[in-house]
Amino acid sequence: MDWLHSLLFHDGQFLGIQWHVWKVVGWLGNVVFTSRFLVQWHATEKSKKVVVPALFWWLSLTGSLLLLAYAGLYQRDSVFVAAYAFSWIPYLRNLLIHHRNERARKECTACGHTTEAAARFCPQCGASLPASHP
Ligand SMILES: [Zn+2]
Repeated sequence: MDWLHSLLFHDGQFLGIQWHVWKVVGWLGNVVFTSRFLVQWHATEKSKKVVVPALFWWLSLTGSLLLLAYAGLYQRDSVFVAAYAFSWIPYLRNLLIHHRNERARKECTACGHTTEAAARFCPQCGASLPASHP
């Protein structure tokens, strides 16, 4: 296991990185932001159609804000800051729309299954659902 230790730790650095608080913030932002693709891919494979779950937008928002903090407060790199300065807007908007859709879902009185607000029939039991009120 000495080979593993010397591979991970070299010259007092872990993975060749001089670690400090801002490096942790930046790498955490990278991991969170990148993990959103795994979440979206998993959701799509699971449902056999292209799906973007709310967790994707939460990971996008959190990761981009961490990277924006790293870029603006530590790196002070205008290119990097510009890349993340406004990306939070569509992430937040999509989360708001998702929240509104979740709140407007209908519950079937026959079987208790919940479905989207626009549905006219329960996809579980086929019972007629009341009309939506915008
Ligand atoms: Zn039903």
